[in-house]
Amino acid sequence: MSAENESSPIDMNDDNPLSLLREDLRDFAGYSSARSEKRSGRVWLNANEAAWPSVADGEGSVRRYPDPQPQRLRETLAGLYGCEPQQVLAGRGSDEAIDLLVRALCRPGGDAIVITPPTFGMYAVNARLHGTRTVEVPLRDTPAGFACDFAAVAQAVERENAKLVFLCSPGNPSGTLLPLAEIDALAQRLRGRALVVVDEAYLEFADGDSAVSLLAARRNIAVLRTLSKAHALAAARIGTVIADAELIAALQRCQAPYPLPTPCVNLALRALAEVPHNTTKARVVTAIGERERLFAALQALPGVLQVYPSQANFLLARFDDAQAAFDGLLDAGVVVRDMRAAPQLGNALRISLGTPEQNAAVIEVLTRNAQMRGVAA
Ligand SMILES: *Cc1c(COP(=O)(O)O)cnc(C)c1O
Repeated sequence: MSAENESSPIDMNDDNPLSLLREDLRDFAGYSSARSEKRSGRVWLNANEAAWPSVADGEGSVRRYPDPQPQRLRETLAGLYGCEPQQVLAGRGSDEAIDLLVRALCRPGGDAIVITPPTFGMYAVNARLHGTRTVEVPLRDTPAGFACDFAAVAQAVERENAKLVFLCSPGNPSGTLLPLAEIDALAQRLRGRALVVVDEAYLEFADGDSAVSLLAARRNIAVLRTLSKAHALAAARIGTVIADAELIAALQRCQAPYPLPTPCVNLALRALAEVPHNTTKARVVTAIGERERLFAALQALPGVLQVYPSQANFLLARFDDAQAAFDGLLDAGVVVRDMRAAPQLGNALRISLGTPEQNAAVIEVLTRNAQMRGVAA
């Protein structure tokens, strides 16, 4: 079936986010896997799986291909994020969701995305791999922290005909939480033109609501969440995109046939059960307390020029000698993220929050380091 001369059967009013999908993918059915064909039977000989479990796999829990989107996981994530199961697509981290969105909305070798640097690097990486242009609207460095220039973002999308806007809230590495009212107004303005993606990888640490609450009125918003940060499951690789149910179904058709390894799904379900989840929430509260303590301690340190307010689980700070601070920490065995290559961050380091003991060690090392260099407070 050639995509060029098929007219799409979808009602393309400008509220339907499917109108944002690549035209050549609108009638794309994706791969039809053995697992996706619904059949009932007793003896399953349709997927070339092994007849016996691996000796390494005691109960044979991984002998068969997994459900592409296990219903229990979908329901659990929907409950966690406050949406309907059909609005959820789980995948291999939010990294996969970013890749899927770029591939499904932007033409290979064409179109554009808008990002707001300094920001998470994967948006531009995926655009580049796809041959899609990245248009930058820098965050504004204000006395209150980094801020998004929403009017400039909207103008850039309109000027460059961009299909996707990647907002990060709280921002990595800025730490800034974006106002929902501004996100809502941006999506309203870009309706029928672009999808506004809100990457909420760190929202658990923030004092604010999810952009999921905007979805009912704005079908051109997609929200990214992950189990990698607050939920401590980075190696399980489970991230979620939450969006209009029709858009989610279209994205799933572009996704790999079996994106979710069964052991990872089971681990996620165990982690999201009530008791472990309560522990996770308590640790987030501890991390927030540590963040405020470390923020104050860093600000009081000689050699620290500025600490950005953070709604995430890291602090971004400018140093009079970032190299010396980085090296001093490294000599003490503490590895932080050198941000000096990022736009506007030529003297900055990003420090993830550790345990209270680890955070105390960071302050101790930096204090000793500054004293040795004779920096005045
Ligand atoms: C860590 C991070 C991610 C990646 O999350 P995964 O689910 O592990 O792929 C996405 N976005 C931002 C802003 C991040 O910092």
